[in-house]
Amino acid sequence: MKKVKVIKIDVDKCNGCRACEAVCSAFHATPKYSSTNPERSRIRVLFDPLRDIYIPVLAGEYTEAECNGRELYTIDGKVYDECSFCRASCPSRKLFKDPDSDLPLKCDMCEEEPPLPEPLCVQWCLSDALTYEEREEEGEEEAKPGELEIGLESLVKKHGAKAVMDTVARMSK
Ligand code: SF4
Ligand code: SF4
Repeated sequence: MKKVKVIKIDVDKCNGCRACEAVCSAFHATPKYSSTNPERSRIRVLFDPLRDIYIPVLAGEYTEAECNGRELYTIDGKVYDECSFCRASCPSRKLFKDPDSDLPLKCDMCEEEPPLPEPLCVQWCLSDALTYEEREEEGEEEAKPGELEIGLESLVKKHGAKAVMDTVARMSK
């Protein structure tokens, strides 16, 4: 059996306070809690006051290439931008990339030892737009790539393995 962690998002309850962005970026700052910067957050709130909507989106997988096509969403008769709800860290946009290094950001469910009772964005969402659930599913636990592995993979895809290895060798001299 494997444990599946789920953050449920109730868009109707989100008031756009952005507390989730602040705490996520602080938790992932180095040193931890030393700064807040929404651009470093693994959750971003799509904000459109004119259409009275706030949609939290959690950072998902890194993708090397942007999609060949695009999707347009119509919700309650309002049309939302292409890519608005996509979770990917993708070459076509700045979202879910570290603003300094350009490395991809991905939600890690605030994993640490000892484990937190709930992910921090859920704990800080006072309007209950975010709620947390764990369940068991058939199947083996998969080894998940760490942040370092995800970052290195994106650098290798962008610059090639040799350039990355040469740079690391030069830096470690
Ligand atoms: S903390 Fe909750 S209510 Fe505030 S922006 Fe994030 S999801 Fe929305
Ligand atoms: S679960 Fe943790 S890492 Fe993921 S978006 Fe929420 S605060 Fe950020």
